[in-house]
Amino acid sequence: MADYPNTLLHIAGEWRDGENGRKIDVLNPANEEVIGTVAHASIADLDAALAATERGFAMWRKVGTYDRSKMMRKAADLMRARADDIARLMTMEQGKPLAEAKVEIMGGADTIDWFAEEGRRAYGHVIPARAPGIYQMTIKEPVGPVAAFTPWNFPINQIVRKLSAALTTGCSIIVKAPEETPASPAALIKCFLDAGVPGDVIGLVYGVPSEISSYLIASPIIRKVTFTGSTPVGKMLAAMAGQHMKRVTMELGGHAPAMVFDDADVEHAAKTLAFAKFRNAGQVCVSPTRFLVQERVYDQFVASFAGHAKALKVGNGLDADTQMGPMANERRVPQMEVLIADAKQKGAEVVTGGNRIGNKGYFFEPTIVAGVTTDMRAMNEEPFGPVALMRPFKTLEDVVTEANRLPFGLASYAFTSSGKTASALAAGVEVGMMTINHLGLAIPEVPFGGVKDSGYGTEGGDEAIEAYLNTKFVTQAGL
Ligand code: NAD
Repeated sequence: MADYPNTLLHIAGEWRDGENGRKIDVLNPANEEVIGTVAHASIADLDAALAATERGFAMWRKVGTYDRSKMMRKAADLMRARADDIARLMTMEQGKPLAEAKVEIMGGADTIDWFAEEGRRAYGHVIPARAPGIYQMTIKEPVGPVAAFTPWNFPINQIVRKLSAALTTGCSIIVKAPEETPASPAALIKCFLDAGVPGDVIGLVYGVPSEISSYLIASPIIRKVTFTGSTPVGKMLAAMAGQHMKRVTMELGGHAPAMVFDDADVEHAAKTLAFAKFRNAGQVCVSPTRFLVQERVYDQFVASFAGHAKALKVGNGLDADTQMGPMANERRVPQMEVLIADAKQKGAEVVTGGNRIGNKGYFFEPTIVAGVTTDMRAMNEEPFGPVALMRPFKTLEDVVTEANRLPFGLASYAFTSSGKTASALAAGVEVGMMTINHLGLAIPEVPFGGVKDSGYGTEGGDEAIEAYLNTKFVTQAGL
């Protein structure tokens, strides 16, 4: 397709092919057509990227926060100006509807602005001394060159949080972006370069993920590792980072409980949660997955939710009326089929959906599975697709026990009109995030991250900036 570019590496200020010329095809998940290629980095390319990021860090840390912030805000403006074009690239490579792609890009610009400003407030402290004439203080310094590994579900959003936190604090960064969705990340990086961020400060590579991560994490030049993706890969990278004593942020898988109580506005809950479930075809780490509904309103909730699911228009994300696109890659289809077959075989009922749509493109029906039990694979493994699992509960204690049963602890959702219930959930559910009676996650000024097997560290709010800073203590006797 003429309007989808071949994606190159960005190393030391140059857009170029990999040194060995290797590249792989990029597919459009809506029709499985090859739309372009992406260059692969070799070890020699990674060495060049590391040397550049070392130079970039030495220089960028000395640029004042005021000027860093100005360049970042200019990058955000460029993102907004280019949003329509970048959204098209994202939809072609990832599948999501154009409107969702545009929201991701505008949200990305918002994230850059927030970090650009917040980085100017990375204050240290003056600590009262035990004796006169002594001044004790802490100074915040950038942690150093960062290696960031990001997935294909939100090609821009997953990078922009890491990139913005790194740049605002004075770190350089090498991004290993997703090979399946490479062009929109490259367009994002281009906004920063066009806004004046020097070429050595941002590296962009693609290639064999395990090869790149093991090489970059082991390099003494890299001081911080940040990863978004699955829990098994996250554990591997965190172990590697531990071996080399690198700072780490891990944003991993989830299996979010959505808890609907019988005192809730059930229709509002069904509509809100259906929107959250089928956004990005369910390929979202904070996607509501286990729908735990209090017995008295269970039938009403399932019927209402099914109405919203059935009404969704599934199609090519480039078509204006599409509300849910295909899944992003071929691997997702059998994963849905296996989990649904296992649930059916163990006695669950498919209320709606359950099947692949057509045989071209990775389309899957918005699916509701009811009567699920905790021995079913889908109730234990992250589906990462458009599958909602419905299960009734009796009491607050029951639902908290079920919410906490899994090793994941990322997002959770609750609907209740009782303040007492809301407080009990906020205190009792082991998660990094809870949103009650609305969808309020993932804006830049609030924390975003998980506990337990969902990872550690946060990618929003002031803690996200802390994760890219060292605290240096200085004490000085009076001069
Ligand atoms: P995967 O586990 O192979 O890959 C997940 C991501 O990690 C991809 O971006 C991949 O490029 C990267 N990756 C894999 N091995 C790596 C390595 N050794 N070093 C560095 N990066 C590496 O799975 P997948 O098929 O791409 O996605 C399936 C699962 O991943 C989903 O079921 C979901 O659990 C998880 N996932 C989570 C998120 C998220 O937002 N947290 C995003 C995408 C995928």
